Amino acid sequence: MFTAPKGTYDVLPERSGRWQRTLEALLAPAVRAGYRLVETPVFEETGVFLRVGEATDVVQKEMYTFEDKGGRSLTLRPEATAGVMRAAIEHHVDRGPLPWKVRYAGPMFRYERPQAGRYRQFWQVGIEALGVEDPAIDAEVVALGARAFEEVGLAGVTLLLNSMGDEACRPAYIETLRSYLRASAGRLCAECRARTETNPLRALDCKNPSCQDALALAPVLANHLCVPCHTHYDEVRGYLDALGVAWVEAPRLVRGLDYYRRTTFEFQHGGLGAQNAVGGGGRYDGLSESLEGPPLPGIGWSFGVERILLALESEGAEDTGRAVCEVYVIPLGAGAKPAVVTLVDELRRAGVHADMTFGDKGMKGAMKAADRSGAQVTLIVGERDLAEGVAQLKHMDTGEQYPVPLAEAATRAAAAAERDQAADDTVDPGQATETEDETE
Ligand code: AMP
Repeated sequence: MFTAPKGTYDVLPERSGRWQRTLEALLAPAVRAGYRLVETPVFEETGVFLRVGEATDVVQKEMYTFEDKGGRSLTLRPEATAGVMRAAIEHHVDRGPLPWKVRYAGPMFRYERPQAGRYRQFWQVGIEALGVEDPAIDAEVVALGARAFEEVGLAGVTLLLNSMGDEACRPAYIETLRSYLRASAGRLCAECRARTETNPLRALDCKNPSCQDALALAPVLANHLCVPCHTHYDEVRGYLDALGVAWVEAPRLVRGLDYYRRTTFEFQHGGLGAQNAVGGGGRYDGLSESLEGPPLPGIGWSFGVERILLALESEGAEDTGRAVCEVYVIPLGAGAKPAVVTLVDELRRAGVHADMTFGDKGMKGAMKAADRSGAQVTLIVGERDLAEGVAQLKHMDTGEQYPVPLAEAATRAAAAAERDQAADDTVDPGQATETEDETE
């Protein structure tokens, strides 16, 4: 028997409704702020990723790279920003109105060691705003991240904020840090000793306890920012305060990819264990140039959908989807079937979620299926009802049943289902609906 490849998973109908709604809700605040959908290929020329993150773990160890039949080296995208920037350069967005604001949702691929909250194929939603350096757009992007969590109803999220400086101040800081790391080499893990030379910033967020001890007194970037970076950071924090977005200073926060500048942030959730980052992002003013593009500063974030779903579960958050089936229709006897097929179609075309019994189930089996469907209302159409021009309308919660004219059956059932749903909602908002899935 075949199984899903290691580090991947299936989203089955029982969970796909919530999954879909969560994706959409996370991006809803960005939609309202004018971030339009962009779709880029799931694979790019390998060079796109090599250019942007040569010294990073993602690029060095985690990429799914392959040669196609034409001998091209391609890589499944480990993240979306590089591809979005490649598209922005290719299509000359710098010549149009700026900022160019886009959102995306899609699968990313990293050859990582799978564990809870870490997969080899996982979904990210994200936004990017290209073309302006204004601290107000940094604040907009960060705030849209915070609003995304509000929109899905996730409470326990902390926003960590830092500035990574820029090409004016970071190189000097990196040398200071490198000297510190060389002097502490004895207490560093092998990886951090290597990072000391290749990418010393990454040592700052090493999880190894001995490295963390060694780095407790390491110099922090915040104290080495040049004046423009300092001013930019101050303004971003001021806007966030004005927007009521809570943040925590995180002087050691660095991002895995090389192209980040200035504003850097991460959203963490307390209910997830080791993989506690639910999303992150930052400003990447040098990225366009590293892909041979024009100066095109940018800022964005990407959120991990699986981790957000796990976090929602850990908070016991209720899902509020629409019922899979609202009206269920049962034909009794072969003669009633044609009328039921058209009745169900009529309901669906009127916007009602409707379903019917297929196969020869008999009354008992059909009622069981009606119960399982979660419908508020069931219509039963027997051959005798048909002859009398009626259908039996049954309220599933009370069991009350009465005939309605067949010609009005769809409208009467739809109205009854809506009324029963509304009554349920006022009595017990959390438990009202079976919310397994959306049919669309
Ligand atoms: P990154 O591009 O590494 O900053 O990732 C952004 C977000 O994607 C993280 O905060 C996680 O929520 C999520 N993420 C990253 N890698 C994985 C993975 N291997 N599996 C699941 N989620 C991930």
